Amino acid sequence: MNAEPPRIIDPQPEEGEQLDNALRPRFLKDVIGQNQVIENLQILIKAAQQRNDALDHVLFYGPPGLGKTTLAHVLANEMGVNIKVSSGPAIERPGDLAAILSNLNGGDILFIDEIHRLGKAVEEVLYPAMEDFALDIIIGKGPSARSIRLKLPRFTVIGATTRLALISSPLRTRFGAIYRLDYYDPNALKYIVLNAAERLHIQADEKGVEEIARRSRGTPRVALRLLRRVRDYAQVRASGTITREAASEAMSLLSIDALGLDEIDRMVLETIIKKYNGGPVGLSTIAASISEEADTIMDVVEPYLLQIGFLSRTPQGRCATQLAYEHLGYTFPDNPSQPSLIPS
Ligand code: ADP
Repeated sequence: MNAEPPRIIDPQPEEGEQLDNALRPRFLKDVIGQNQVIENLQILIKAAQQRNDALDHVLFYGPPGLGKTTLAHVLANEMGVNIKVSSGPAIERPGDLAAILSNLNGGDILFIDEIHRLGKAVEEVLYPAMEDFALDIIIGKGPSARSIRLKLPRFTVIGATTRLALISSPLRTRFGAIYRLDYYDPNALKYIVLNAAERLHIQADEKGVEEIARRSRGTPRVALRLLRRVRDYAQVRASGTITREAASEAMSLLSIDALGLDEIDRMVLETIIKKYNGGPVGLSTIAASISEEADTIMDVVEPYLLQIGFLSRTPQGRCATQLAYEHLGYTFPDNPSQPSLIPS
């Protein structure tokens, strides 16, 4: 177990944040942001309801903390069906999945978080279940073994992943709908924070909320966590109300800068700039240089730095951009030896 304190901007849930369940929007109309995905989901739901059928299988992908789990629950609420929650690492053996599948009722949703971490043998059970609503069970061993096919009710798999590229193509093709969740704009986050402040009876003025939204790296889970930490600061060191000053002082104390970058983000950028002349350098080399998990850098640090234009990806590795140099107070070299960028 990692004994270090969790990062304030870590978009993975912390223990105790299950409380946030109370803050999750329950229906599509309550979801703020992700407008295009929401519109598509409205159509998906309406179509299934008109056909009186289960929802198509849905795959959500994108960085952690953006609402994949939330949307799975929203879909269950909208359809008025049960949702069974599991995850790739939790479903270890084919038998585990068979047990889950054989307990589903018609229309039910099976939510599989981190679906890219399902083992090959488990995936093999999932294919016929998703495609033909059938469970192939092997009875007996050796030459006398035979397979029997059990019918399953029509159900829906909702998968969530931070790494679309790690999903095998046979699994990917079994999803009828695949949606990418993007970082939220500061305005959407502002409303998410305002809503949460109201529900948690936290006093905050508009500027204070805007400051939190601006430093939440486009991620609702980070915004809600910052709201709590800033509330504590305002309560102990200020008037109790979250103002812009209180928010910005609290976040400086947490080492979160004006753009929401924390120490690890800055270490990644400084390593590229100082040790590798701005890049290109591979992610695993950066991770080793700063003793951080390569997965954390890949899932959490890199996507946001790419999004705000601080990192660029080249065939040879990652490079720090001029924006990153300027933000950290370094002079951008006149003739950077960086190779041309991969066209997106
Ligand atoms: P993911 O599954 O993508 O890691 P979650 O669905 O667990 O993310 O969302 C993280 C937190 O952010 C939850 O506590 C949820 O309440 C909140 N959240 C996510 N999306 C929204 C949204 N659109 N509006 C309000 N809160 C949201």
